[in-house]
Amino acid sequence: MEHGLQLEMNFSDMSANRLQENLNRGDFVMLTEISSPGRDLELSVGHNRLRELEFAISKIDTMPAGIAFIDKGNSVDTWHVADFAAGLVEQQRDNHIIYLSGKNSDMANMIESANLCEVNGFRNLVPVSGDHVIGENSKATAKRSFTESVHLLQYLRRHKNHNIWSGAVVNPFQYIPDNLYGQLFKMVKKLNLGANFLVTDFGWDMLKFQELRWYLNSRNLYYPTIARLMLLTPESVDKIIRDAIPGVHISHGFRQLLESELRYSYNQFEAAQWRRLQIQAAGCRLLGYSGIQIAGLDSPAKINTAAIKISKALDEFADFAAWQQEYFNYLAKTEMAPFPHCFYLFENMTGTELHPTAHITTLSELPKCHRREKLNYKLKKFLFPHAHKQNASEHFISKKIFAGCRECSFCRLPMTQYICPETCPKGLANGPCGGAKPDGQCEVGDFECIHNTIMRLASWNQELDCLENDYIEPALKK
Ligand code: SF4
Repeated sequence: MEHGLQLEMNFSDMSANRLQENLNRGDFVMLTEISSPGRDLELSVGHNRLRELEFAISKIDTMPAGIAFIDKGNSVDTWHVADFAAGLVEQQRDNHIIYLSGKNSDMANMIESANLCEVNGFRNLVPVSGDHVIGENSKATAKRSFTESVHLLQYLRRHKNHNIWSGAVVNPFQYIPDNLYGQLFKMVKKLNLGANFLVTDFGWDMLKFQELRWYLNSRNLYYPTIARLMLLTPESVDKIIRDAIPGVHISHGFRQLLESELRYSYNQFEAAQWRRLQIQAAGCRLLGYSGIQIAGLDSPAKINTAAIKISKALDEFADFAAWQQEYFNYLAKTEMAPFPHCFYLFENMTGTELHPTAHITTLSELPKCHRREKLNYKLKKFLFPHAHKQNASEHFISKKIFAGCRECSFCRLPMTQYICPETCPKGLANGPCGGAKPDGQCEVGDFECIHNTIMRLASWNQELDCLENDYIEPALKK
């Protein structure tokens, strides 16, 4: 791994973790999202900009504040996130979160990155599998290496000498049962593997934020949860409209609303976005989120304005019913679910109850296996029942014909309902990424996300619990 990081060992209190303390105490936290810059920018210039933002964040006195460092967010050729984050002053690095992306990284890189973060005083890490590169198709994506987030979580759990508090990402903005249950099963797997807190993906549909909190409560999963929000700019709206932000898919109605806002004067556009952010932030706190992580605050002035406006919004909305009225009046006159996909786990989510009174949709809502899927499964189970215990080259030809075998270092077919995880462009075996399209199609191809098929088969075999409980070890690709 390329990095020029000097290891800095002089941290006054290696055990302190202010973010953990704040989240556990229930103090509402505001994190500003900053992406590691591209290598076309001098690292020293990036550090200077970072320090300006850090100074603005250090002046926030109305709520605990920190930075969420995004790894490989803008492009592939970015500075290593640990090198970039090392530009901060040495004190209080435990206020921040570093995301470590598995894109173009193997497990050794991920472990080395985690070690670098820790030795430099960072305490909070969120491993992510990584987004595809915009414009790349499934073949190009499959040529890259993606290390699943669960592997680093598992490593950190096994090596308890690490002084790291790890988190996990979940994308609740899913509108068909297959996608949504897949996200929730994988989220629970990550919690079982040692994740201590959760961060959502971006979204504007507050009912989906609500649904996640209700689901966690219904499962007695009392983990701090951070909602990821975005202060929209004309540039980011343009990207959203062009579907150029992985995992962000919006409804036709919301698209039309954003397009109409783009026709406002700049000042009106900006005022609309600040109000949207205020309402979302206040709603998240009322729904039980422990904090928000905001993208789009790219200057000290915006950070300062965000802190003031969010504090005002938290004071303005102390009551859920009043907040909800404002949300529906101001933001959600439009349909937020991308028609015809409009699945929500709970009934009556628009009632004024802050906690679920309605029943959760049962797992019987899961779509059933197609006849062909069952036949395929039975055939492969008959042919390769012990493939995971055999040499990967055994039955190679028939595994290639019936399962698309890529001859990994060991075979995982019996653990994934006989769907080869290597047919996922990112090679994910432990559950879906957050990027599937609203109709269940893969993030990078015109085929259904393989984890939807795995889930239908698991449901048919009454093995859904395996999707939460069974950790599938990584295999090396040929
Ligand atoms: S198959 Fe599913 S998990 Fe794999 S890249 Fe596509 S959407 Fe993501």
